[in-house]
Amino acid sequence: MSADARREELAHGLEEVRARIARACADAGRAPDEVTLIVVTKFFPASDVRLLADLGVTDVGENRHQEAADKSRECADLGLRWHFIGGLQSNKAAAVAGYADAVHSVDRAKLVAPLDRGAAGREVDVLLQVSLDPPGASGRAGADPGALGALAEEVAAAEHLRLRGLMAVAPLGEDPELAFERLAAIRSSFLDQHPDAAWLSAGMSNDLEQAVAAGATHVRVGSAVLGSRPRFQ
Ligand SMILES: *Cc1c(COP(=O)(O)O)cnc(C)c1O
Repeated sequence: MSADARREELAHGLEEVRARIARACADAGRAPDEVTLIVVTKFFPASDVRLLADLGVTDVGENRHQEAADKSRECADLGLRWHFIGGLQSNKAAAVAGYADAVHSVDRAKLVAPLDRGAAGREVDVLLQVSLDPPGASGRAGADPGALGALAEEVAAAEHLRLRGLMAVAPLGEDPELAFERLAAIRSSFLDQHPDAAWLSAGMSNDLEQAVAAGATHVRVGSAVLGSRPRFQ
């Protein structure tokens, strides 16, 4: 596909997603500028990131360290904010904090020291990923709601990390509206303790409306902008 055709495709996807966000905000009685669109560019090339930046995208999300490191380096001239949204290994955390402006997937205390070390000289925004799965569910990512308090204290005490809020993914197979209602309740008690950590990263291509209704401040949207991801890479 030519660059012009791809640009058209991305412009169209972006326009639709921005309209969905605006509509969801209107339905929820919220101002559209309360919600930041993070375009998730995982599996897509740096050339797409360049086109997106040209189309006015300011925030991009990646979920795999090596790919994110390479792409953020290739696109360093664009002035984008890079959000790391994927599962994080503690031995990669310092490297991730070297290029990420925000890390959404902090779900255990073991990640805090390496992130802080890797961020040195800058400030990295941190969101705590909270699990909305039932306790004991297999393959769940995210901290138990009951563990957020202690984790938040660790992050808040780190010199180069800024505690910003919470992140969650709606469990597969559950109505996202119900999952995000639980998230809103968890967030509400979290805010009692950390009133400045008001970011809520929730909502993807298929459930951004429900997330905005539940108070999301950051939606992470991939396929609705870029098309379906290549299955193998
Ligand atoms: C891939 C991914 C997204 C984007 O998913 P889409 O369904 O393509 O919008 C959002 N959040 C996380 C954590 C992801 O890994």
